[in-house]
Amino acid sequence: MPTLSLLDHEWIPVRHFNGQISKIKPSQLIDETISDLAYFRPDFQGAAYQFLIGLLQTAFYPKNDDEWLDYWDEGIPQSQLDKAFEQIKPAMQFGATKPAFMQDFTPLNGNKVPISGLLVEAPGENALKRNTDHFIKRDFVKAICPHCAVMALFTLQTNAPAGGQGHRVGLRGGGPITTLIMPELNSPTPLWKKLWLNVVPLNGDEKPQRYDETVFPWLNKTITSEPPKNLSVYPEQANFCQAFWGMPRRIELDFDNITQGHCDLCGEESSELISYYQTKNYGVQYQNWRHPLSPYRTDSKTGAPIAIKGQPGGLIYRDWLGMVTTNDDNQSAQVVNVHDYRDLESHQEYHLWCFGYDFDNMKARCWYEHNFPVYPIFADPDSDIKELIALALEFSNETLKILRKALASINKQSSSVDIAYWKETEIPFYEFVTQLIEQKDNPNGRFHFLLGWTNTLLKYITQIYDKAAFSDPDQQMINSEKISTRVKLLKDFNKLKNIKKIKNNKPS
Ligand SMILES: [Zn+2]
Repeated sequence: MPTLSLLDHEWIPVRHFNGQISKIKPSQLIDETISDLAYFRPDFQGAAYQFLIGLLQTAFYPKNDDEWLDYWDEGIPQSQLDKAFEQIKPAMQFGATKPAFMQDFTPLNGNKVPISGLLVEAPGENALKRNTDHFIKRDFVKAICPHCAVMALFTLQTNAPAGGQGHRVGLRGGGPITTLIMPELNSPTPLWKKLWLNVVPLNGDEKPQRYDETVFPWLNKTITSEPPKNLSVYPEQANFCQAFWGMPRRIELDFDNITQGHCDLCGEESSELISYYQTKNYGVQYQNWRHPLSPYRTDSKTGAPIAIKGQPGGLIYRDWLGMVTTNDDNQSAQVVNVHDYRDLESHQEYHLWCFGYDFDNMKARCWYEHNFPVYPIFADPDSDIKELIALALEFSNETLKILRKALASINKQSSSVDIAYWKETEIPFYEFVTQLIEQKDNPNGRFHFLLGWTNTLLKYITQIYDKAAFSDPDQQMINSEKISTRVKLLKDFNKLKNIKKIKNNKPS
């Protein structure tokens, strides 16, 4: 197969405002008629966003907020973008000749495995839950076109889960949550603005000095991590931008045995279908990195940053505050902090598009994505709105616990209670938050809405309890035990630590 330049070749599917789908090369991303990327798998869509943001971040980074804003207001000139991308051309070659995009510099002579292994999903039907149904089952994937192979490779290197002995996890660990700032959902915004919102200014050491292996690890021999040394790559040993180009897996696609036919992923005809790749363990082991597009928490023992991962139950409002605000234990993604301080027109509302896999060790259980609101008031250090919302969230957690306990004591406990609780109270929660923000300077009003939130949850848990306890047609008799459990539930509710705190908020 001849070498493909990922910068010169049109390989990225996009959707135009008029509904038309086409393929572009990266430098065409500034076309104002393009509304979005158009991948057929949600994980590729999320990865492709990061690929293009990564290209801009690496080769066309703004030096400061003012410069960022100039481009935001005036657009990115084609000639400047072409010139910027020209610098990274050697890193964006894809094919049998090394260096090749995201593939090991050295011939691997490793195990030859079917190309389906590049896809991050669970083999076997039973492991696939409803949310993963839109993934094409990997048993059906025998040969894929080069365009899909590039994105599959990038998706795997970006999200890599634990893969057995020495198969390293991604730079943020296996299955990180990525959070992207997005414009108002219903206002038509061109793709380039959605990308540019997620590019941050670089200063000092963060700027790439050279576009070599400190940014793109496949441009030289891999820093492998075999025992006993188990070498790691720390942020100090590489450039900030490698965060976008991490290469935990040593992979070499098999370009010698290409065939002709239809790609098993996108369905397009290709004369260069790839069916196998070689892989070897002990690729780059990343330590202590902070990716600008992911929220982190601090490990209580080591103090190391740990990227937030997908959890069973999905992305729910329980997790929201940690993704949009920063405190001692949780840090929102760098891009969120940067956004908070940007001098953007205030009438435009933004949201946070969060996505990622939920991995059960090596298997993808689910793919999650969710949109969370972003409120400018969170950036105001003088406002205590964040604290009040944190209090309300703690209260939601406590309330769920006593509901679970009550259901357990009448043998009605099930894991779906938690998921339903968060999903079914989400809309009232955001209504409450909006009301709270509107009353930011009015203590009376705030107290009223906090109390309102406790009542909403009280109503919810009593309804759920009553349904579980009393609506079973086989047990028409209401027994005294169920009634006394209900009495106890109400008692427990009124004794909750945070309900006292909330009531203490009453303005005098
Ligand atoms: Zn394809």
